[in-house]
Amino acid sequence: MTSISNTPDSSRILAVALPVPIYRTFDYLPPITDDGCSFSPGQRVAVQFGRRALTGIILEVKGSSEYPVGKLKPITRLIDNTQVLPPSILSIAKWSAQYYCHPIGEVLFSILPPALKQGKKICISSTRRWTTKENSDTTIEKAIKGNAKKQLQLYHTLEEAPNGLLEETIKLRGFTTAQLKSLCNKQLIEAEELDALSAAATEYEVSAPTLPLSTDQSAVVKQLTRDLGKYQCTLLQGVTGSGKTEVYMNVVDQVINSGQQALILVPEISLTPQTLTRFQNHFRCPIGTIHSGLSQNERLTNWELARQGAAKIIIGTRSAIFTPMKSLGCIIVDEEHDNSFKQQEGFRYSARDLAVARGHREKCPVVLGSATPSLESLNNVLNGKYQRLSLPSRAGGATFPEIELLDIKSRPLQGGLSRPLIDSIKKHLDEQHQVIVYLNRRGFAPAITCEECGWLADCRHCDARMTLHKHPAHLRCHHCDYSAAIPHQCPDCQSTSIKTLGTGTEKAEETLEALFPDTPIIRVDRDSTRKKDSMKGLVDEVNKGLPCILVGTQMLAKGHNFANVTLVAVIDADGGLFSADFRALEKTAQLLIQVAGRSGRGSSQGQVIIQTSHGDHPILQQIARGNYPQIAEQLIEERKLAALPPFSYMTLLKAEDPNINKAMHLLEQTKKMVEDASIDTEPLVELLGPIPASMSRKAGVHRAHLLLTSDNRLALQRTTQQICHWLNSIRWGKSRWMIDVDPIEI
Ligand code: ADP
Ligand code: ZN
Ligand code: ZN
Repeated sequence: MTSISNTPDSSRILAVALPVPIYRTFDYLPPITDDGCSFSPGQRVAVQFGRRALTGIILEVKGSSEYPVGKLKPITRLIDNTQVLPPSILSIAKWSAQYYCHPIGEVLFSILPPALKQGKKICISSTRRWTTKENSDTTIEKAIKGNAKKQLQLYHTLEEAPNGLLEETIKLRGFTTAQLKSLCNKQLIEAEELDALSAAATEYEVSAPTLPLSTDQSAVVKQLTRDLGKYQCTLLQGVTGSGKTEVYMNVVDQVINSGQQALILVPEISLTPQTLTRFQNHFRCPIGTIHSGLSQNERLTNWELARQGAAKIIIGTRSAIFTPMKSLGCIIVDEEHDNSFKQQEGFRYSARDLAVARGHREKCPVVLGSATPSLESLNNVLNGKYQRLSLPSRAGGATFPEIELLDIKSRPLQGGLSRPLIDSIKKHLDEQHQVIVYLNRRGFAPAITCEECGWLADCRHCDARMTLHKHPAHLRCHHCDYSAAIPHQCPDCQSTSIKTLGTGTEKAEETLEALFPDTPIIRVDRDSTRKKDSMKGLVDEVNKGLPCILVGTQMLAKGHNFANVTLVAVIDADGGLFSADFRALEKTAQLLIQVAGRSGRGSSQGQVIIQTSHGDHPILQQIARGNYPQIAEQLIEERKLAALPPFSYMTLLKAEDPNINKAMHLLEQTKKMVEDASIDTEPLVELLGPIPASMSRKAGVHRAHLLLTSDNRLALQRTTQQICHWLNSIRWGKSRWMIDVDPIEI
């Protein structure tokens, strides 16, 4: 009971979103000591929610509540003076919450930079601007003696920049903090402390385009920049190495020159540091990055720089789609087919699709770029929603690699490699080139077995095999991360004949090391790149251009531009050819064409060798012709006949419980509810299942699926919302349920 003389203002009611899994906002009153504060949507507030003190976000300021005003509590305090979430972001967040059937509070809190979730005040980190002190040249040469060449270089670099340079920029140009320090100790240079905002606003310079564009590239840039300030979605379909990045940079130039900002989404920044480096070299300005590798402070600073309009370019992964931009001028989604744009847990959204929705709302062009576009985007070209621009040939005189299918049905393999493949690797190395060996399994071997009785090492918590790792030696489950010691005896029959099955990257690495003892072998997979910036180190090593073998997973297929790689070898192409997943062929074709596209990007002719036991598979044959548009056309035709996405829409309802029957029961009840509710109407939505998920038990929990499909998107949305409300109204004990709209894995 509140017995206060100073009653809160009940004419302004604040609808507040809170980080709780509840599908609505909560009404609060202004604080008791409200000295005429003004409230706007997008400000954070501190509130008492039951017994918990939470941070919330004002979504609406309204004149009435559906609850008795006397029962409403005042907020504890207002945290921000400004709208940390501006109207554009609130609007796309509300739309997403509805479209993806996710609680608005959780949506907003997954958008906020971590530092802001905790109710901390916005503060952005400071930086330093370095300038030279007055000196005469003779003392410089004397002061920087002998082998301190880099220091001298740094000094001259600073001398040439009339306003000095920011520390970040200096580091981007290859200098270190230690070098700055020595020059500073010698009294040759000095630093001025700046907050990042004023720093970014002052130091901004676009260098001239570094490469003269090809006719195709110029035509594309011209089209893309014809109508800045208007929404238009373009699929930029450019073969691997066609110079899409160059095109993006030219478009961004014009966007910035028109006083606006560019938002660029890439699949994984830490895995493809080259894209960022190319932008940083071209645009001599601090570029805001948004990705999970940043510290909380860095992330908050970049978000603030974008929100206040100081960062002209934001490059980020999936979550960057929610970065507030003061004046958004274009959105570019590079490698738009990549699965990493889909968030697969919690608030499940597609950053690619939201990019289109956001561009539409904020009236700016959207560019989806890929050599192997998703069938969804291609279909949107066919139905007239997107325009398509093409870059059909490689830039800078590079030609396409020849792709060869190598039959391994009856060939002996050594660590997964056949003799003809080994010979080809040798030939390319002898010619002083680099080689990529691709296989999609990390670890040493994907399974171990007992030769006597056929026992296989299974994960204790999942329906999955344990992978053998050698560095360090252990068994690990790649689904739940459970690890165990390697048994020396079979637990079933006590035999000591334990053997490995199959080949992982570690085994291929070991085999290649034995075959090519004088050649550096660089393994690239999640295990070898766990440390921050380790990928950058690997990339720098490869870019030195000396002969080497890169062996690794699909990380190697992603957007790299290694000029001296002339052979790409695919150890086994067959994994995705016979899968139950209707997207498997699309994914296989994209992956193989992408990994093949890493070959021959420089001046030498490239070669691709794909080992397979199914050389007559029609998709592999087409991949060998390198003709993705033709493959896509055929796959689209098949999807159309089968009424599969993009010719229908899907929502996946998932249930989880330690007991599979309970998970199935939840879904069966849901299905019955929908069927009962629509008993008199033509069913517009088909419900398939429930069935246990393909790997039913994961991390000790059983999972089951109910699939909703329809060719009517609105009907599907209505049914999804109906299900969501119904499930919410019932207590399901230990069972959990989640909704995945437009799922990419079913
Ligand atoms: P994509 O992103 O389409 O795979 P990139 O932008 O990485 O292609 O370009 C591939 C290579 O071609 C890079 O080394 C790039 O520097 C070079 N390149 C791009 N455009 C040109 C051009 N107009 N002239 C010369 N070289 C170019
Ligand atoms: Zn055994
Ligand atoms: Zn497991």
